[in-house]
Amino acid sequence: MRIINDLKIWEELRNTVYSSDSLGFVPTMGALHKGHLSLVHRSVTENDFTVVSIFLNPTQFDNADDLHEYPDTIVSDRSRLKKAGVDVLLCPDYDQLYPDNYTYKISETEFSKQLCGKHRPGHFDGVLTVVLKLINLVKPRRAYFGEKDHQQLKLVSGMVKAFFLDTEIVPCKTVREIDGLADSSRNSRLTPNNRKKAPLFYSILNMDLSPDKVIEKLQSAGFKVEYVEDIGNRRYGAVYLGEVRLIDNVYH
Ligand code: AMP
Repeated sequence: MRIINDLKIWEELRNTVYSSDSLGFVPTMGALHKGHLSLVHRSVTENDFTVVSIFLNPTQFDNADDLHEYPDTIVSDRSRLKKAGVDVLLCPDYDQLYPDNYTYKISETEFSKQLCGKHRPGHFDGVLTVVLKLINLVKPRRAYFGEKDHQQLKLVSGMVKAFFLDTEIVPCKTVREIDGLADSSRNSRLTPNNRKKAPLFYSILNMDLSPDKVIEKLQSAGFKVEYVEDIGNRRYGAVYLGEVRLIDNVYH
């Protein structure tokens, strides 16, 4: 596995060694877990080459503490990606990805203002902007995104259509722990007690009750609820356990 920090080197390799039309891409922010690896395995299976990026994107964080406390597990991330058969790990820095210092950005004006977007202003501008930059640099045939972040997946799919990008967005099922908790880089920050409580988020979200009743149940189980909303055939939720914010969504 090649580890590339310099985007100029990547651009050269993309036109030579990795010029294949069958290139899969998995963008991540690191602190990898089984959920990320399921996307990686899928890409490795479906493509000649797989590129994974690790870039902790500051423009999508509305909360500086959340950014600074984001787990950094780069050494084990590297070895897990190598073992999974990844060809290239791309780790650019902020100055390379944002030569404009984020004076240019991509905004979606409707769905991105709901759910997480309502509570984290600017979050999806940061997500869409970095994903567009990465897709333009990697030029993948397919890019893999998790249903765990369903709103993000829908917004990225919409952007690819809106801007005629030549990349297929492949949705991947949410990977969960045996107790139902969706794998997330933030789970490692839960206290042991809150980790025990956390699976109730998924089980209560799945109950056949109105969003208001679900909110009541979550609150009495000790969650601070940011939102629970039904849109289309999905129920979306975001909650806090202590300082840790968890999101999830279920078919409803
Ligand atoms: P992140 O590192 O949080 O930006 O996530 C990178 C990608 O992994 C995104 O497409 C996420 O939706 C996906 N992902 C994160 N957690 C899970 C999970 N538990 N199951 C499936 N995909 C996930």
